[in-house]
Amino acid sequence: MKKNIKIAIAGGKGGTGKTLVSTNLFQLLKEKGKNVELIDCDAEEPNDLLFFKGKHSGHKDVLLPVPQIDTSLCTYCGKCKEYCNYHAIFLIPFAKQIKVIEELCHGCGACTIACEYGAITEKEVFIGEVNQYRISDKALLTEARMRVGVYSPVDTVKEALRFNTNPPEYQLLDAPPGTSCPFIHSVVHADYVLLVSEPTPFGLSDLKQTIGVLQEMKKSYGVIINRSDVGNDEMKQYLQQENISLVAEILFDKDIASAYAKGKLCINELPAYTPVFEKIINHVNQEICK
Ligand code: SF4
Ligand code: SF4
Repeated sequence: MKKNIKIAIAGGKGGTGKTLVSTNLFQLLKEKGKNVELIDCDAEEPNDLLFFKGKHSGHKDVLLPVPQIDTSLCTYCGKCKEYCNYHAIFLIPFAKQIKVIEELCHGCGACTIACEYGAITEKEVFIGEVNQYRISDKALLTEARMRVGVYSPVDTVKEALRFNTNPPEYQLLDAPPGTSCPFIHSVVHADYVLLVSEPTPFGLSDLKQTIGVLQEMKKSYGVIINRSDVGNDEMKQYLQQENISLVAEILFDKDIASAYAKGKLCINELPAYTPVFEKIINHVNQEICK
């Protein structure tokens, strides 16, 4: 058995039930006495902590080195703008106007290297934070939270993923929605990806897109169908045709929705669902041991 198992829980579009799965798997592993960490990588809207009471145990500000330009040294040559892949430098040479658009800057440092006139220095800008909470002796919750208005949550997510220098037996990575950079950075190191989806035409289209990305990344994955008794059978047929594991199904149950809305955990409030989450963990363990 691996010493550290990373399981990403992803959902394509938002609202598919990945928080439901992440928080309940975390609770299950906690109750089983496992060393476990839940990392909320949905830095734009982290909400896993709403389901737990924890003691604040760690914090880090995420800072980005953003260039600042000394116009008394600048010759308006334009080399910094040329080097910037993110269109973060605004320049009108004849009007002697130059400005860094901080919201677009990725802090790559290319412009500083490019400038031959020593006109660029860097300042650190706060773009997000990582907070850690001790939920029990063996359970930690780490939360990535980006500053509102920042262009990308990627740096904050990366910081959250490396925050724990002594990774526990299980790390559950609650991935952000979508399939762009924040999603990719969340799942890239995962041993297994659980995709939570809904059996609707939109859910299926989204699932196919996410699976395409995971296949490119050569990741192992399986699908959990949430609200599986609503919608149609097309998703199950697709999984069968493509030989993709259907890890578990969670029925549409207003008691689950009601518990969720109150910030309660399904396995605490509705123990009849505990076997569903046990099945998910057993499936992942078997897949990783293959
Ligand atoms: S490279 Fe330096 S000198 Fe040239 S425009 Fe940029 S800041 Fe000004
Ligand atoms: S640090 Fe990178 S992204 Fe930011 S302005 Fe300079 S070249 Fe562009």
